[in-house]
Amino acid sequence: MTSGHETHRAALGPRPLQTRALTREAGQARQLLAAGEWRPAAADSEAAVAVLDRLAAPLPARRAATARTLATDRDRRLQRLLRTTLHHLDAGTVSPPAAALLAAVARAFLPWHATPNPPGAAAAPRYETPAGPAGGLAVPPTEAGEVLLPDLIALFAVLASPSLPGTVPLTPPVEPWQVRYAGRFRRYGRPAFGVWTAETVACPACGGKAGPWTVTCDWRLISLGCPCGVVTHEHGLAFSEVWLLLPDM
Ligand SMILES: [Zn+2]
Repeated sequence: MTSGHETHRAALGPRPLQTRALTREAGQARQLLAAGEWRPAAADSEAAVAVLDRLAAPLPARRAATARTLATDRDRRLQRLLRTTLHHLDAGTVSPPAAALLAAVARAFLPWHATPNPPGAAAAPRYETPAGPAGGLAVPPTEAGEVLLPDLIALFAVLASPSLPGTVPLTPPVEPWQVRYAGRFRRYGRPAFGVWTAETVACPACGGKAGPWTVTCDWRLISLGCPCGVVTHEHGLAFSEVWLLLPDM
């Protein structure tokens, strides 16, 4: 089978969700919370409350709902979930285990990055939104996304619940990860509502932009190792600007 054939086939149907990291991180979080080895700090609980709100949001009741408005409503709920998750991931206030969990949620719901409505400006982030037939967007795997909601609601409800008075927050250690990425990283800015700027990250020593980069991350800091040997932390990239480009690990 030729690769062209593969590409054609991939463009016709919905892409499978990338849930490997989510299965791993959610399972770990459940275990740690149940064992009392993770007692979320206030920032983790606040982020969890916001995400839980999106996870459990009811679909709007419409008097004249059609198949089309229902499909849009279902996708919009998942899109809001993704956007809220990304917001709290990139705000940089949550603990490493919470960041790892939010990142895994964001990757799973990435198909809704531009669905039902794409980001407003030309320079807004693009995470290789798959092009469907006739150049349109591929159909998002809505049902596969919604299937994930009940388990995530249960998990985020635990994360969001206020800790008992007198308990001290406890953050479990997180395994750092390292991966090689052959490609460019783009740093996005949002100077005003609906206005985006984008800049490609370059190695401070040799100016190289294409890598392959050695990415190291402990969910506090990301470092980029350039093929010239220089490692930099001063790239200004948010977690999502690195994480969402990588394959599901
Ligand atoms: Zn370099």
